[in-house]
Amino acid sequence: MVETDTQILRVLDADFGGEQPQEAPAVRDRLTGMLSREALLGRLARTVERAAAQPRNGFALLYLDLDRFKLVNHAYGHEAGDALLRQVGERVRTTSRATDAVLAATPGNAAARLGGDEFVVLLEQLSRPEEALAVAERLLGALAADYWIQGTRVTLSASIGIVHSDGGYRNASDLLRDADTAMYAAKAAGRGRFAVFDSSMTQRIRLRVDTERELRTAIDAEQLALVYQPIVNLQSGLVVGIEALVRWQHPAKGMMSPADFLPIAVESGLIKPLGEWVTRKACRDFARLRQHMGAAAPEFVSVNVSRRQLGDAALPQKIAAMLHEAELEPQHLHLEITESELVTDFAVAKQTLEALKALGVALSVDDFGTGYSSLASLHEFPIDIFKLDRSFMASSMRSAQGPALVAVAHAMILLARNINVRVVAEGVETAEQLALLQSLQCDMAQGYFLGRPMPIEALATHRVPIQVQGEN
Ligand code: C2E
Ligand code: MG
Ligand code: MG
Repeated sequence: MVETDTQILRVLDADFGGEQPQEAPAVRDRLTGMLSREALLGRLARTVERAAAQPRNGFALLYLDLDRFKLVNHAYGHEAGDALLRQVGERVRTTSRATDAVLAATPGNAAARLGGDEFVVLLEQLSRPEEALAVAERLLGALAADYWIQGTRVTLSASIGIVHSDGGYRNASDLLRDADTAMYAAKAAGRGRFAVFDSSMTQRIRLRVDTERELRTAIDAEQLALVYQPIVNLQSGLVVGIEALVRWQHPAKGMMSPADFLPIAVESGLIKPLGEWVTRKACRDFARLRQHMGAAAPEFVSVNVSRRQLGDAALPQKIAAMLHEAELEPQHLHLEITESELVTDFAVAKQTLEALKALGVALSVDDFGTGYSSLASLHEFPIDIFKLDRSFMASSMRSAQGPALVAVAHAMILLARNINVRVVAEGVETAEQLALLQSLQCDMAQGYFLGRPMPIEALATHRVPIQVQGEN
């Protein structure tokens, strides 16, 4: 069926006019009854044209995408997903309708579903760009309220990208593209929020997309490498462990640290193959080091794992295979999980960690003291080691809060001892900090003062500048 222009216009104009909408399926989204993608594009084209002719007729476009909607489809099935989308559509419609002072003056609003879990709200005749922010704020609030799906309470959040007409747009597709970019920036900033488009976003997103593409091939191209940082026993002065830290030898950008690419690896799911590569390589390297150093070798190698990896139910099995392949005992491997990640996905983490523990590998809480976990919840995990975050060291010891931080660090060391957990202090950069930790009877330490991250070969000849307690 071919729609005539008049038919379409009639439906569009009725959309927020409060009159009975005329039925014309092609301009309506089947699922939600909102405007369809095609209808919205037509509408946008006219809006852009009008704004170009009369620049004072400002408008804004809100591009909305639900966060982690796929999980709902996965967990409850597509029918439930559809029901949820209908509820979301209804909330978007009512929230962006002319019900308050801002919107009452803007009769030309429209709400559409672009497809999937993406929605668009067009706000016309805005007198000030900030009005769009108020609507975005309200949308976020409305969408965050509980939903009921098959008798189960579900919560959702959305990310919104906002574009204003003052960007001087000439066509609808540029407008949508930039709104989509801003939406992506809102997701990257942590989801459940809005972001207003600015041109630097395009640059940043291009960089992100490039990095992700390059990272995909980095493993096979052998561009990833591991360096190892010594973990020193503060009583014996011996290197008892080493922590594997990943580096990316980028062909154009040179050596990149984890902060430059790990967030992208996590976001894109590449952390799974990357993490497996790291663990396998660390096991092999450590087995070789033990052969080479014999009795003088460290006792364990410690590998960082991210939350995404803990979500993989097959992880314990894979790790068992890697240990077997490298001919290592489970106690030779420690796994580090950042405290903040541990508390977010409590149930998932607990199951995987228990399976890993049963395997015999040791578990560390990384960056301990920064994740605001309650001690009661931490106690539920089978933890062997706390790695005291380096913010407790660094400049802190000399600063005004120094004494208080030392007191907290001391309390954590005592607490750990009481629950049979050992402590590694991270970020030790001075002899003074080291002496303090020794006086607090901290078990182990790690930091530039004791050894920087280095290639595996360098460990055999590394000397630790440490005075063992009782020595002069
Ligand atoms: P982390 O696990 O807490 O590792 C310690 C970080 O602190 C390392 O940074 C290390 O170089 C740095 N560091 C060590 N001693 C000192 C010191 O005395 N002073 C200061 N200022 N810094 C020190 P790096 O290598 O850049 O790694 C950063 C983070 O990236 C790691 O923090 C870890 O969370 C993550 N990461 C590194 N490799 C991997 C990996 O293979 N997999 C995963 N999932 N995460 C990794
Ligand atoms: Mg670590
Ligand atoms: Mg750490």
